[in-house]
Amino acid sequence: MADETVLTARELYRFYRAGEEETLALRGVSLRVRRGETVAVVGPSGSGKSTLLACLAGLDEPSGGEVRVGGVRISHRPETERARLRARHIGVLLQTRNLLPHMSVGDNIRLAQRAAAGRPAVSAKKLLGQVDLAGRGHALPRQLSGGELARAGLAVALANSPDILLADEPTGELDGETEQAVLALLHDRAARGCAVLIVTHSAAAVRVADRVIGLEDGRTVGASAEPERQEAPDVSA
Ligand code: ADP
Repeated sequence: MADETVLTARELYRFYRAGEEETLALRGVSLRVRRGETVAVVGPSGSGKSTLLACLAGLDEPSGGEVRVGGVRISHRPETERARLRARHIGVLLQTRNLLPHMSVGDNIRLAQRAAAGRPAVSAKKLLGQVDLAGRGHALPRQLSGGELARAGLAVALANSPDILLADEPTGELDGETEQAVLALLHDRAARGCAVLIVTHSAAAVRVADRVIGLEDGRTVGASAEPERQEAPDVSA
């Protein structure tokens, strides 16, 4: 069977230096995410979750270690190359920054599709239908409710049918019912084969995850950062 690993991080380190001060935000984080999996990354504030997500998405460069998406290294490349790889393979869902405010929802999706250069696999109209926003393509972000805004941000993240969706606190500002709707949409994407990684504080988000990775002080703790190994077949006679 083909290797279903979509994203690999190996021994990621990230140091921040400000004058004499040095912060070690990531201290050797390794993890793997497979097709169809939903993984939650949890940890206290300051444990390195946002830094990890930025490095996985190629928005930030790790100081050491590497990130691979679909077998292709995305870390330690010029920003333009990282942006191209990100547009083609990675959907990024940030809590409040997924939509440009002066453009309609439909145009936001089409802009994300242009960044990937090539024929979009799915039309903006179809994407809007998939996130229950059919007919809202002409609306500006400010004309949407909180729940609609979250779903519109998700449509932009999914604009190029990514292999992996990386979401930073995607339900942080939503009420319980809207949160459930967004989580159901994320879970549905995973069921269709997309890998999903969610950085979250939400117990509801942790419940929908197949696997939870704990972060503490820049290191993974507790639960496994690797998918469960398949049991080796019993070959004894
Ligand atoms: P979390 O998302 O879990 O709250 P972060 O990844 O934001 O954690 O931060 C991890 C550590 O790195 C913290 O100690 C934080 O203060 C530090 N940090 C994050 N970004 C920067 C930065 N741009 N410059 C200096 N230190 C930073």
